Amino acid sequence: MAGFVNSVLNLLQFAILVLIAVAGISVWQRRWPPTPPFARPRGTSSAQLRSDQNAKFFYDRGFLFLRRWFFVGTGCPPARINRQRLGEMRTEQADQPVRVASTAGRTWWWFENNFYWESGGYSASDVIALVRDRQRKDKAKLDRAHAQLDGDRRSPARRPTISREVKMRVFQRDGGRCVQCGTDFEIQYDHVIPVALGGSSTEQNLQLLCARCNQSKGANL
Ligand SMILES: [Zn+2]
Repeated sequence: MAGFVNSVLNLLQFAILVLIAVAGISVWQRRWPPTPPFARPRGTSSAQLRSDQNAKFFYDRGFLFLRRWFFVGTGCPPARINRQRLGEMRTEQADQPVRVASTAGRTWWWFENNFYWESGGYSASDVIALVRDRQRKDKAKLDRAHAQLDGDRRSPARRPTISREVKMRVFQRDGGRCVQCGTDFEIQYDHVIPVALGGSSTEQNLQLLCARCNQSKGANL
């Protein structure tokens, strides 16, 4: 009887060990699903370096709950990274671009705490050149935007409004008709000396013109 109980216990122990082994192997062997087409980077011209905001490192727990490190980017399925190598790369990327992962003709770079991808087969010095070029362009764009903003602040309204009283007096003076051709169709208030040339919105500098005469005057100026 005791022998029978012992052998049942032995069998149970063996079964539990097999279960643990199978569970461990299945976690260890876990496969990542392929990246769906919509998540892959678009095909672009080769001379390009793209910033990848989705790129990052992460870890999960594998066999014996040990951390396993991965790199993942836009269109880049998780790529296993050696833990020690990750530490080395972190140091290196402060000074020079580090190649982190490659998949389907695309390479991901880590440089100055930013991630980039390219499909031009670049070298580290190519990547530096492209990153610097990009930073120069961004700065120029920012400078232009600030200059534009300052310009807008300095000249608020280019075209001064004509007061109601001035309009009425000009209308009465010119008899409600175009001073050139005499029509009363599509009458407009025209600055004799244009605003752009320093003309003011006074009665003396205003006249009635029809749309056609105004247009031909504009063309002759
Ligand atoms: Zn006219």
